Amino acid sequence: MKFEYKPYNYRPSNSEIIEDLQKVANKNSFSTMSMRQYAEFGRFDTSTISRRFGTWNNALQAANIETAQQFWTVEQLFENIEVVWRKKGRQPTRRDMDDKDFSSISSGAYLRKFGRWSVALEQFVSYVNQDDTFDESSIETLAEVTGHKTKRDINLRLRFKVLMRDNFRCSSCGASPAKDPSVELHVDHIVPWSRGGETTIDNLQTLCSKCNLGKSDLTLD
Ligand SMILES: [Zn+2]
Repeated sequence: MKFEYKPYNYRPSNSEIIEDLQKVANKNSFSTMSMRQYAEFGRFDTSTISRRFGTWNNALQAANIETAQQFWTVEQLFENIEVVWRKKGRQPTRRDMDDKDFSSISSGAYLRKFGRWSVALEQFVSYVNQDDTFDESSIETLAEVTGHKTKRDINLRLRFKVLMRDNFRCSSCGASPAKDPSVELHVDHIVPWSRGGETTIDNLQTLCSKCNLGKSDLTLD
């Protein structure tokens, strides 16, 4: 092993860190790299790197190193499918999942969990088609606290159902990310929650970010 001086108080830039992560990963042909593996060969302190990028996996992602051993829950995998589907305005392909501009989880993670991409999609669709089970007692407590029957948050199932109903198009101007990739869709309350509107499918709509902005100016929601 080569001995190198590593000053204590040296504050590396993000690009220096990324460069060193890549160097160590490439040199050792690591397909992914644990903190312990990096610590053995790397120049910088692993906790500094994690802190800088939020998590170790974020640092690996920034360096384009596969985070293969990362454990994703089914909910996280499904949440990410919804994000990509909404950004694309159509059913995502396996290759879409490897496009870092659209997807934060690579197709490999889906294949490890579901075997095939088509199975992941099938499971996702059957998940969103399940009805939410409402707990009557929690609704009563919620009503006492907020005066609402529903929570403000729009969960994955409901959001996806609204997007499907609206054909992944803005309900106001018809813009669609499938035709124009710069279009960003949001699911939003028609009667604002702050004005007594409930989080139900009839009170939700798909809007593009432009129309959504225009709407907030009017309703101050
Ligand atoms: Zn619009």
